Amino acid sequence: MVTSPAASLPAVPTTGFLPPDSQLEAAVRAEGAKLFALMDAHPAPGLLSKKGAYARLMDWAMKDPAFKTQLFRFVDVLPSLDSSAEIVRHLQEYLGDKAVELHPALKTGLAAASIAPALVAGPVKAQVVDMARQFVAGETPDDLVKQLRRNARAGLATTIDLLGETVVSAAEADAFLQRNLDVLNTVAAALAKDAAPAFSDLGPAGPLPRLNLSVKISALTPDVHPADPENSIVALNQRLRPILRRAREVGAFINFDMESYKFKDLTLALFKSILEEEEFRQAPPVGIALQTYLRDCEEDLRDLIAWVRRVERPITVRLVKGAYWDYETVLAQQRAWPVPVWSRKPESDANYEKLTALLFDNRDVLTPAFASHNVRSCAHAIVQADRRGIDPRAYEFQALFGMADELKAALLQTGHRVREYCAVGALLPGMAYLVRRLLENTSNEGFLRARNTGEATSAELLRNPVEILEKTVPASRRPPSLSAREAPAHPFRNAANTDFTRAPARDQLRAALKAASAQLGRRWPLVIGGRKIADREYLPSVNPARPAQIVGHWAKATRADADAAVAAARAAFPGWRATAANARSGILDRAADLLESRRMEFNALLILEAGKPWVEADADISEAIDFCRFYAAEMRRLGRTEITQRTPGEHCTQEWTPRGVAVSIAPWNFPLAILTGLTVAPLVAGNAVIMKPAKQTSIIGAVLMDVLVEAGVPPGALNYLPCVGADVGGHLVAHPQVDAIAFTGSRAVGCKIWEAAGQTLPGQANLKKVVCEMGGKNALIIDSDADLDEAIPAALYSAFGYSGQKCSALSRLIVLADGYDRFLERFLAACPSVPVGDPAQPGTVVGPVIDAEAQQKILGYIEQGKKEATLAWQATLPAELAAGGGYYVPPTVFTDAKPDYVIVREEIFGPVVAVMKARDLDEAFALANGADYALTGGLFSRSPSALERARREFLVGNLYLNRGITGAIVERHPFGGFKMSGGGTKAGGREYLQNFLFPRAIAENTLRRGFAPPEE
Ligand SMILES: Cc1cc2nc3c(=O)[nH]c(=O)nc-3n(C[C@H](O)[C@H](O)[C@H](O)COP(=O)(O)OP(=O)(O)OC[C@H]3O[C@@H](n4cnc5c(N)ncnc54)[C@H](O)[C@@H]3O)c2cc1C
Repeated sequence: MVTSPAASLPAVPTTGFLPPDSQLEAAVRAEGAKLFALMDAHPAPGLLSKKGAYARLMDWAMKDPAFKTQLFRFVDVLPSLDSSAEIVRHLQEYLGDKAVELHPALKTGLAAASIAPALVAGPVKAQVVDMARQFVAGETPDDLVKQLRRNARAGLATTIDLLGETVVSAAEADAFLQRNLDVLNTVAAALAKDAAPAFSDLGPAGPLPRLNLSVKISALTPDVHPADPENSIVALNQRLRPILRRAREVGAFINFDMESYKFKDLTLALFKSILEEEEFRQAPPVGIALQTYLRDCEEDLRDLIAWVRRVERPITVRLVKGAYWDYETVLAQQRAWPVPVWSRKPESDANYEKLTALLFDNRDVLTPAFASHNVRSCAHAIVQADRRGIDPRAYEFQALFGMADELKAALLQTGHRVREYCAVGALLPGMAYLVRRLLENTSNEGFLRARNTGEATSAELLRNPVEILEKTVPASRRPPSLSAREAPAHPFRNAANTDFTRAPARDQLRAALKAASAQLGRRWPLVIGGRKIADREYLPSVNPARPAQIVGHWAKATRADADAAVAAARAAFPGWRATAANARSGILDRAADLLESRRMEFNALLILEAGKPWVEADADISEAIDFCRFYAAEMRRLGRTEITQRTPGEHCTQEWTPRGVAVSIAPWNFPLAILTGLTVAPLVAGNAVIMKPAKQTSIIGAVLMDVLVEAGVPPGALNYLPCVGADVGGHLVAHPQVDAIAFTGSRAVGCKIWEAAGQTLPGQANLKKVVCEMGGKNALIIDSDADLDEAIPAALYSAFGYSGQKCSALSRLIVLADGYDRFLERFLAACPSVPVGDPAQPGTVVGPVIDAEAQQKILGYIEQGKKEATLAWQATLPAELAAGGGYYVPPTVFTDAKPDYVIVREEIFGPVVAVMKARDLDEAFALANGADYALTGGLFSRSPSALERARREFLVGNLYLNRGITGAIVERHPFGGFKMSGGGTKAGGREYLQNFLFPRAIAENTLRRGFAPPEE
């Protein structure tokens, strides 16, 4: 390894990008100009420089973003289309008339497509396969060996990437592992016969490993759960070890590719942990990719350098900018998380240059590899190396197969080693890779597009990114875009869930769980009219994962307590009603802040009392916070008097007034979120409220009561009344002094409440308003062209997440006949990868069900299912779960289900899913709509017309397209259904608060003796 001193160079600064350096700049421009000149002398036939159909297509795609989206979506769906008719249908749906551009000969073909679809489908498929062939080096190991030899003759080294990313089952992961081992064997055997290494396979100290394999961790096991790195690493190591062992035996190099941000910390931790294992401390040689578009890339690199020095294990670092910029940006925005990537392209470039220098300064332990198609980035690396007197063979450049061929040639000509990243595998299934490459080639911000279309001159392309940044106004100081200026001021923002892929967040929740476990068993009194009433019978609330553990004791309210609570609420009502809407909203905002500040404490409580897995608990508290803030904002809006019509001489307005006393009756499955929503909505509207939590989760209710009191809700305006529903709950519902009932729960109880509330008793002031949300029997339809890599994880989570105990959970899976076998095989194979366990463990998806009664009921349905349908899969529960006495139910899948079966008709509220086959979409929608319920539903399809049909024909309150069917977010997805799912109200929606208000219209004659005041 070259270790020339860099003493004369300033150290790479720890903050900011590289400072200006005119000498360096001049050298980079000269080096860049040299590379450009060489590239111009030998233009390679790249995708965009190629004449004919591709060039026209790409050109069009770049000019017309809508066409680009449609074209790439068509390319993406093509592999799943089995018949010519389907190919033609999708082609027409996506591209319509523009489809003729795919192939000139299609013009006449499309006209006749309905008669002879094969005439069109054949050439189109061939065309797309041909396009893929430009980026995929081959399909078989033999193709690969040929490519390696071609590369070697051209002086290029190679790294191999086996296509195939998402694995959803152990079987798929095993197959992928085997492909890796096979490739190591085949290629090693073939290379052994090739005597002379290529130019790029020779480092300063002699030959380098010629066999170089890149691996992606998401393809190694379905058991990757970024929030649970410890167990994920155990699972990943099992499949990594054989690869590393074989690599060591055959002298191969293994590179860890870097994927999306959620895997980043896990990949780094895995990399370090496995290389610290004794057998891999020396060999095989390894490398890892780091992405400079990440704001924390420098921190990771410095940390890696420190680790490498500590363990004395030299590695290669492949510096890339990063392939998932759009994805990371969209995802973070959707989740209200900090965006992990730089927002401006020159920032990624400048970071690349800074970390280039840092890599060179640590070349005694790191071999730098620069994977970039950007001439400026490459030229800068060459100059930084020259400055340090580094032998050009001590580092390398890397570029993708099928891209930037002229740059590869120019770098070779200037004496630099170049490695080509060759993707290998079946062409059609490799479409995800193709789409990524097409996007890269046509990206607005990318170097390749600017260069290939001539949008920028060579001089512009060689500009220093730091200089560009200095000359552009930072995003924060830019005037808002037109659309932002036009958008109305939005008073509400959703709370962000915790990102448990970050270690500090996991540590916080572990600490909160420990603290909560140490304080269990407290006694929680009733709260009526501001008084705590402690001298009642107390009932225990237990941890469903370990029922011997008592979370707390709650005081059981009596009928007399219910009467007292109604009286206290009635007494408090006038004062609370008179409190300004803004002031009431302010109290809810304070409650939201308090909930946020106690997020981890509530998370722990939700895990312990409701058996919620980590991410579910965290989403529960986010929703509770959202309800407070959203309804507060809504009440501020409704609190303003509205003019109904402007008429001269008459002032006509409408305003809202609260109904009176409301009772909120909540379920245990969203013990904080739904209880909060049902309570704070009537409360902020000015009603006095009696809050009745579910008996299984009364402790969470008691703590919420504390929060609301601390936030400023006055005595009597809110009363906490845990009780047994059938008795005291029923008494409250029937009470003549109760004006509104906000209920979420079972169909049986909901219907009873609806009926009881319809009876008007003597002394009753108002007709009772009932907001009633009940169950669901939710269906997800899988079309034959669905993206199964997306559909299977979504179906699994929708069915089994939180043990299927959500009213939105999936319980009927309707699969179209054409894709049935393909879906079912992968779905069933994927089921065992859903982690069942103690919800206190971060990776758990399926915990216990809420209590013994629920457990017995669900097990009863499973027995019923065995009689009616085919038991296709059932989890085996780990022995230690049973030992703790937890209320576990094994996730279960039935197939061959028919619409009249009990398991298909009745709500089960557990981890049980029934699969049905549908002939076509007509039958699928008929099956889906053929339930008593209409809550949530979904369709996975890549056919625009099928998605459109679902919008019109799939009649549920919440329809989800190409995503899971659970996880509604306040305001974004107003939640609630109809039929036996509820009365049609939408929690977290715009019209919700009106349920707890009466509208009042007021008209004042402003004309006095013919004189009217001027109009406002
Ligand atoms: C051999 C090889 C291996 C690779 N391995 C990986 C890998 O393991 N993991 C991985 O993620 N990628 C990998 N890549 C892909 C690589 O990240 C992209 O090819 C690369 O980002 C394109 O960068 P460039 O320097 O060639 O082009 P440029 O055009 O200079 O840069 C484009 C890049 O800039 C960044 N960018 C675009 N818009 C913005 C913006 N608004 N703000 C901030 N940044 C922006 C993005 O990263 C984009 O890809 C690899 C590439 C090669 C050649």
